[in-house]
Amino acid sequence: MPTRDRRDEPDIVRQIRQHEHAVRQGTDKCDLRQCPRCGCPRNGPDFFRRHAARKRTFWVLCGNLVEKVLSAVTRWRCRLCRLTFTGYPSFALPYKRYTAPDVVRLSRRYVQEDELSYREAVEHDGRPIFHDRDDADEIADDSTEGEEEQGSETVPVLAHTTVYRWIGGLGRLVGATRAAVDLIQQKDPSNGLVRRLAAVRIAARKSRSEARKRVLLACANLCLVLPVYVGCFGERFFTEFATLRSGARVRMASDEGKSEVQDEREGREPRVVLVQSAGSGPVR
Ligand SMILES: [Zn+2]
Repeated sequence: MPTRDRRDEPDIVRQIRQHEHAVRQGTDKCDLRQCPRCGCPRNGPDFFRRHAARKRTFWVLCGNLVEKVLSAVTRWRCRLCRLTFTGYPSFALPYKRYTAPDVVRLSRRYVQEDELSYREAVEHDGRPIFHDRDDADEIADDSTEGEEEQGSETVPVLAHTTVYRWIGGLGRLVGATRAAVDLIQQKDPSNGLVRRLAAVRIAARKSRSEARKRVLLACANLCLVLPVYVGCFGERFFTEFATLRSGARVRMASDEGKSEVQDEREGREPRVVLVQSAGSGPVR
């Protein structure tokens, strides 16, 4: 893999390295406001105890390369119910190797550009995005990644089906999107977001079924809401609202200040109940 001048590193790579440094130093913070299981609100800086740390590799799209960036995540333990859970930094998606900014960027491009195909959505400057050949074994383990013939050899590339799946994951977060819109409306009722959402359309050629069309539309809505949410409340949308794995759990806050954990099942919208208690800030 060509070496990269650190000054040219994408922001996300810098963030990943900084996070690893913080985990090594024990200076990263768990910023969940309440326990994912017992719902007990964090009542002090040490409410969640540092339980363990483990290495975590992220895959970052850098031009026409998928670059592997080694980092680390902290496991936290609730002092009350003793649940241990992983603290995901804001750039990470639970259970995903690719980072949230890349997943959202490519998914957004596909749903917003009427003429774009899935294959074009995984290209950079009209060329495939390659994995490093040294990572071929690891890529082969991930059956969702693609391959391309280059002369006499097969080279692993970012597959068009990967973006298809990303959009499916984002498109299931209807309840989370709605909850985010509610919070934004409470904070800034005149932002015009609802009007912009009503105008979202998906090109007819992009879906053959009504179900997929709904997924694409939901993904487009999320892509519209996300930057507004981040502008209002910061980067924590995914780690607060939802995970993208089918069968995974969605954490929610209720207006009594308790949290509930509900199953998010494949194909079904996770029911997100998120109402802010009076005077409190948004869930971060
Ligand atoms: Zn707990």
